[in-house]
Amino acid sequence: MTNSNTQHVVGHLINGVARDDASRTQEVYNPSTGEISKYVAIASQATVEEAITAAQAAFPAWRDTPVIKRARVMFKFKELLEQNADKICELIGQEHGKILHDAAGELQRGIENVEYACSAPEFLKGEFSKNVGPNIDSWSEFQPLGVVAGITPFNFPAMVPLWMYPMAIVCGNCFILKPSERDPSSTLFIAQLLKQAGLPDGVMNVVNGDKVAVDTLLHDPRIQAVSFVGSTPIAEYIYATATSTGKRCQALGGAKNHAIVMPDADLDNVVSSLLGAAFGSSGERCMALSVAVAVGDEVADRLIECLSQQIQGLKFGCYADKSNDFGPVITQQHKNKVVGYINSAEQDGAKIVVDGRQAAPQGFENGFFVGPTLIDQVRPDMLSYKEEIFGPVLQIVRVQTMQQAMDLINQHEYGNGTCIYTRDGEAARYFSDHIQVGMVGINIPLPVPVAYHSFGGWKRSLFGDLYAYGPDGARFYTRRKTITQRWPSANVREGAQFSMPTLN
Ligand code: NAD
Repeated sequence: MTNSNTQHVVGHLINGVARDDASRTQEVYNPSTGEISKYVAIASQATVEEAITAAQAAFPAWRDTPVIKRARVMFKFKELLEQNADKICELIGQEHGKILHDAAGELQRGIENVEYACSAPEFLKGEFSKNVGPNIDSWSEFQPLGVVAGITPFNFPAMVPLWMYPMAIVCGNCFILKPSERDPSSTLFIAQLLKQAGLPDGVMNVVNGDKVAVDTLLHDPRIQAVSFVGSTPIAEYIYATATSTGKRCQALGGAKNHAIVMPDADLDNVVSSLLGAAFGSSGERCMALSVAVAVGDEVADRLIECLSQQIQGLKFGCYADKSNDFGPVITQQHKNKVVGYINSAEQDGAKIVVDGRQAAPQGFENGFFVGPTLIDQVRPDMLSYKEEIFGPVLQIVRVQTMQQAMDLINQHEYGNGTCIYTRDGEAARYFSDHIQVGMVGINIPLPVPVAYHSFGGWKRSLFGDLYAYGPDGARFYTRRKTITQRWPSANVREGAQFSMPTLN
């Protein structure tokens, strides 16, 4: 599809068919060059309703499809994802800006969720108890919910949608995905592979769009559950609205992830791992380590010295150059926001040790780049500490004891990920036991759980009761039903029983 400027418009996928709906469009940028590369269709309420109708029509047959057949679609889907990996990474790079090697890592993490979905015949087996009473058997089974929806952020256009729909679909649901309007192409391309993998039309649908599409999904009574991943203010809105309309909801929000650096830590290891975890993907990861809490001034001084030296060697630029460590941020508006946080830290009295505000890689001067930035003397009352920056900015907070470091983390409103660097097993054990954060690393900077565990934060990083993907994902997308059964023999008849049945 093209628009009046003859530029490509990314459309929707409804009932197995690529659909346009270009009454409203929005620009999609190549963040490495700063140019508009495409447009994305912004779905109307009617388009979203059409997708829901298609999904609802597909549900009865898909629900009754044997689980092994549903799993076989996922096996084939995994194969197609691997065969098309280069194209997918290129699309991610073009619209998100992350370097191709980082896009490949994201895709691989997504594929691992498809692999887990392939084991659905195992995890949907249910529970069975024979003889819970005389000649009475009882079992629990996990039935699909119906039509469910997912709303996803820009920063992982392949991986985060793959956290959701392979699991939802293999459990027997039909899905409507509303991806980020800022980098929609890889998400749409991946979803189109499902048809090739043998998925019946209507089971998976993609509607591109904005708040109109999201609100339609939130208010339509045919949608049974909503998974959301994005910023905390929107997560709160999604959770409040979805639950008020009777839907099941899990809404994963933003983060401020701290690493505690203990005096006994292996500093070389800390420095290299902090560099990757703070600046990888331009800090646009919900698990990015954006605050290092140095225990003792000596640790802080050594950390600053080593980090500032090593940062000089980092390379950032266009997504296509695999020798780059990281790329641009997503939009000019987001760049302005990140620079605004650095300015505010400076105004509040923090020390800008390495300043990335003027960064402009040669040949890509119009791209949305922020260079790696290191800030010392950050205090908890500063705006740059309290809020999520989501850029290549590492802040150092100085404390004197491990307990002070833990109090700082526990008092922060976010609780997504954290990490401690130490050689002391006892300290690490105390930390992991008492820290008020959902995902904890011990000498591991990005403790993103693997696909056969589940992912989620605490406090204002997650609204809902279940984590994303893995075992919690299977529970989120199914409803337990418990059946208790007896086949009375023709010659045994019981009288009416008015007390609560027991085995006494
Ligand atoms: P975002 O909240 O701006 O957008 C997320 C989704 O919500 C998009 O699909 C968007 O179109 C939609 N949306 C935006 N405004 C809306 C509105 N007013 N009403 C309804 N829908 C709306 O987030 P983003 O900028 O795309 O992604 C970055 C954020 O996501 C960061 O805060 C990051 O920490 C968070 N994130 C969290 C996790 C996690 O697992 N906790 C993972 C990835 C990203």
